[in-house]
Amino acid sequence: MLQPVSVAHKQLNDYASIVGRQLVDEIRQRAERLQGKRVLHVSATAFGGGVSEILNTLVPLMVDVGLECEWQIIYGREEFFNATKLMHNALQGSPQELTDEQWATWSRYNEINARELTEGWDVCIVHDPQPAALASLVGEKAREWVWRCHIDLSEPNEATLSRLLPYLEPYPAAVFHMPDYVPAGMNGRAHIVPPAIDPLAPKNMAFSPEDAVYICDQFGIDVDRPLLCQVSRFDPWKDPLGVIDAYRIVKQQMPEIQLALVGSMATDDPEGWDYFNATVAHADGDPDIHILNNLNNVGAIEVNAFQSHCDVVLQKSMREGFGLTVTEALWKARPFVGGAVGGIPLQVSDGETGFLVSTVEECAGRSLEILKDPGLGKRLGRAGKEAARRRFLTPRLLRDWLELFEELEV
Ligand code: UDP
Repeated sequence: MLQPVSVAHKQLNDYASIVGRQLVDEIRQRAERLQGKRVLHVSATAFGGGVSEILNTLVPLMVDVGLECEWQIIYGREEFFNATKLMHNALQGSPQELTDEQWATWSRYNEINARELTEGWDVCIVHDPQPAALASLVGEKAREWVWRCHIDLSEPNEATLSRLLPYLEPYPAAVFHMPDYVPAGMNGRAHIVPPAIDPLAPKNMAFSPEDAVYICDQFGIDVDRPLLCQVSRFDPWKDPLGVIDAYRIVKQQMPEIQLALVGSMATDDPEGWDYFNATVAHADGDPDIHILNNLNNVGAIEVNAFQSHCDVVLQKSMREGFGLTVTEALWKARPFVGGAVGGIPLQVSDGETGFLVSTVEECAGRSLEILKDPGLGKRLGRAGKEAARRRFLTPRLLRDWLELFEELEV
């Protein structure tokens, strides 16, 4: 059997005061027909990155509305995750292809996992490319299959994508964040559903400014001086080195500025450590650059504190499937500056709910504008919070899934 993930207990009713009674009622109504349906989510890791973040909320809410919903993790060793990380990068546009041997490794682990998958599911939702071959291997183990893609497929390495596509054929539905990400050949099977964050999770729940300050202080931040912060895995696409460069430009005009780079190490991301070390080297011992990860005990609460306290939240990505960290920042009413790529423009409208940038210089320039004009930061932050409330909180995501189940006649 695949490894089950035990999730927290959550109640949809608790969200009514945040997203409105109407949406909660609509969800309950849509769920009526689906009582007791067996829904399985399969993903590569229970920790680190956006997928686990989403499932930690979506799964308990699916349970709360009456589905028999479970989340299971595939088995894999380093050779498998090395191959799938390359695949992930290639699908987001990296020129480096997997070798035939790495494709064989990917298939072999998918076969192992396919054998271990239990049967009798009404719908099996397979997240991302790591376990994508499951539907082609053991289609009979679930009545319906959905492939849920969390990555940016808009400019993929075509060789890698065309080798993956045949494995996606057996899925009657595939779900993407944005229309741009839908590869050719989906023939009406593509559905567009952007992800969402949980406003009640420890990562996003309301903190008093004093609590946030108290936590940041413990990590060596001088809470009386301004702070830029980026929360994300240590990954070239997230451009932590570019963030350091932008901070250095800001520092020329504002010597008191500090930078926090907060990044967890995901278990399915073997590249993470190399890039972490490269980031530390680029920081070159600057005492005002704080590089923190989950091994320093930076968990959800601490991420919340950093996002709530800092003066500007950065997400200077060069590719970004969606970027949950963006909505996380908006929800905390923080001014945001981020790369105009992937899912970021979907969440931020430039000049209204944050700033979109394409270069290190622009990133530094917009950050300085906000730092010098707190009124501007407040306006952006407030508008951002309302935009996040309307579009990117988990109850909306749950509603979209129930709608899809209805369409698929689960
Ligand atoms: N995250 C975290 N601790 C960290 C770094 C990231 O909890 O040190 C979380 C972050 O808050 C967000 C998720 O991991 O919820 C990252 O999701 P996102 O969509 O931004 O990027 P991905 O990692 O999936 O590419």
